[in-house]
Amino acid sequence: MDNISTFIRQLNTAAPDLELREYEPMSRHTSFRIGGPARLMVLPRTGGQAHTALSLAAELGIVPFFLGNGTNLLVSDRGYPGVVVKLSGQERFSRIQPEGRRLSAGGGVLLSRLANAAWERSLTGLEFAQGIPGSVGGATAMNAGAYGGELSQVLNTVTALMPDGAERTIPAAECSFGYRKSIFSGGEMLILEATFLLEPGDGEAVKARMEDLAARRREKQPLELPSAGSFFQRPEGQFAGALIEKCGLKGAEVGGAQVSEKHAGFLVNRGGATAEDVRRLMELVRETVLRETGVRLEPEVKFLGF
Ligand SMILES: Cc1cc2nc3c(=O)[nH]c(=O)nc-3n(C[C@H](O)[C@H](O)[C@H](O)COP(=O)(O)OP(=O)(O)OC[C@H]3O[C@@H](n4cnc5c(N)ncnc54)[C@H](O)[C@@H]3O)c2cc1C
Repeated sequence: MDNISTFIRQLNTAAPDLELREYEPMSRHTSFRIGGPARLMVLPRTGGQAHTALSLAAELGIVPFFLGNGTNLLVSDRGYPGVVVKLSGQERFSRIQPEGRRLSAGGGVLLSRLANAAWERSLTGLEFAQGIPGSVGGATAMNAGAYGGELSQVLNTVTALMPDGAERTIPAAECSFGYRKSIFSGGEMLILEATFLLEPGDGEAVKARMEDLAARRREKQPLELPSAGSFFQRPEGQFAGALIEKCGLKGAEVGGAQVSEKHAGFLVNRGGATAEDVRRLMELVRETVLRETGVRLEPEVKFLGF
């Protein structure tokens, strides 16, 4: 018996209510709509279930991959032979709890919902996040940002499950936030919850700002096609999209993958793209941009199963 079969057997005994899915197609869980099956997906609804899953995994030497909303992820066509953990359910991980200027949110809460909850309470600070399609867990790990804002500016604490199974609440100042990275980027800690500290504002102004940013996104970004957002990190003092466009790559295609005609920083799935198409297109873009401009583009998107 392989160690994942052993893991499943042990989980069925230790946490009979925990949802497990074998060979779960990852294309159902990524905004690219790409990706073969994960050998095992574990969907904890409670802290206890998450704790049991991580502790048993550690005992068996299994290192799980933590999945959020899959909006910054390219999963290989072969899938992932390991264990994927995705927070689920209607309880702890999808709850938003307001307390004055503070909003606590489960790791599975979508940022759009969180930003709307802030607006409903006339709290300002999360307007920038409304159009980022990630979850609180994924966006905190990535320190997601847009239009001059990033999560680290409004995060107060992050509650995570450590590899040893202990739950810890970490002040934001200790999370080593940087450009699209944090202490959680290494993939060892599972973010269960985060607390945001916002400022009292004017509800109408908050709404107007969110609508303005949404309109700017609709105008500039290919939201009508599956993608993982900006594929590359912003090179120091430059914009990846502008460099790619300058190299004449707008609209370049490999199989079903394309450099978006609307925003060259986005690689999109025009229909039926494989992960291999996207990977080859990424290489074409990186090689061309390096040759033509001397700038080395680094992917912002995470890779799984390659
Ligand atoms: C149309 C579109 C627009 C976008 N615009 C923006 C933008 O403006 N700004 C921006 O920053 N990003 C943007 N993105 C990218 C993406 O939405 C963000 O990076 C987001 O933060 C990813 O969150 P997620 O929940 O989807 O994470 P996933 O893609 O599922 O995972 C991303 C990383 O976070 C880790 N992770 C996920 N959940 C957890 C958890 N609970 N605990 C620990 N680690 C975890 C994963 O292991 C992985 O390393 C865009 C994407 C799309 C498709």
